[in-house]
Amino acid sequence: MSPGEAAYIAAMRGRGLLPFGVSPFYASLAGPEKTDPIRRQFFPDPRESLPDPFALDDPLGEARHRAVPRLVHQYRDRALLLAGGSCAGYCRHCFRRVWLASPQGFIGGAELGPVLGYLKTHPEIREILVSGGDPLTAADEKLAGLFRKLREARPGIGLRLCTRAPVTNPARLGSGLIDILRQYRPLRMAIHLNHPRELADPVRLGLKACLDGGIPVLVQTVLLRGINDNPETLEELFRGCLELGLKPYYLFQPDLAPGTAHFRLPLKQGLALYRDLSARLTPGGPRGSAGKDGPGLPAGLPVYAVDLPGGGGKVDLREDTIAGERQERGGKVYLLRGPDGRLWPYPADE
Ligand code: SF4
Repeated sequence: MSPGEAAYIAAMRGRGLLPFGVSPFYASLAGPEKTDPIRRQFFPDPRESLPDPFALDDPLGEARHRAVPRLVHQYRDRALLLAGGSCAGYCRHCFRRVWLASPQGFIGGAELGPVLGYLKTHPEIREILVSGGDPLTAADEKLAGLFRKLREARPGIGLRLCTRAPVTNPARLGSGLIDILRQYRPLRMAIHLNHPRELADPVRLGLKACLDGGIPVLVQTVLLRGINDNPETLEELFRGCLELGLKPYYLFQPDLAPGTAHFRLPLKQGLALYRDLSARLTPGGPRGSAGKDGPGLPAGLPVYAVDLPGGGGKVDLREDTIAGERQERGGKVYLLRGPDGRLWPYPADE
């Protein structure tokens, strides 16, 4: 670490910014160069302090859809539980960076009661996404206790464990945890994976243990400038996932969190990259079919999507998603057509 970098990290402390933190394992994957794609994901960058006229403290508008504290109900058949606030390492591109800047404990009794009450009275919710920081930073007993209470409130409800721990701390996927996950099936794991070098041997072993335990693993990737913004890297990543039996699910255009503008690839470049990737991989994602290579082949192409800024919901990104453009806040924005037909601005970054 250079003296300048050390000074920047010291200056971040106490300013309400996303903490600096990285697990020894994840740090061991990084090279020494500032441009190393692993290093850039956890090492603070002075560009995080640059003003961004499009930044939103709550880029997904989760507060708008907050049913009770810690529970977000935006989509009819699923809800998001902000279960735990710490992480094994802090991703500099994280869209919940403002929320994570203040310590958030793992959800306890007083906050869980209203969540359970809400779930009991909303049978249309069929799956609960357990997220919010990384739930796998909680001890096994706490996690099992949460799953038990959710299932007592709503027997049979699907669980989706959203985590980066298999990548940042693969030792977490020990037999004790796998036994708990098996016990609470139907349960899927959604992991955050951005670069083929993250599929190191310990990560592969941990994920194989999940799959062998009957836990399906979905992969969510963020398209990040300077990290994975080329088709070769993404193809290698998604082919590596297929080889392991993981399902590439979403490739996300970054959200508009403060201090992350330097990670955003211009939307038109993202669309061109995705076109190239589509020619290389069989379509998959949440709505994928067997694809042009024929039935029976594993689907390696995730859906390219963005969460519309401010709470408009998730939308697939295609050329025709862009319904117009205008000048706003000193820059050009594209107007993206949301699921409700409304137009939502997203910076063009051109
Ligand atoms: S692990 Fe997830 S919640 Fe934690 S900093 Fe990374 S992206 Fe954000």
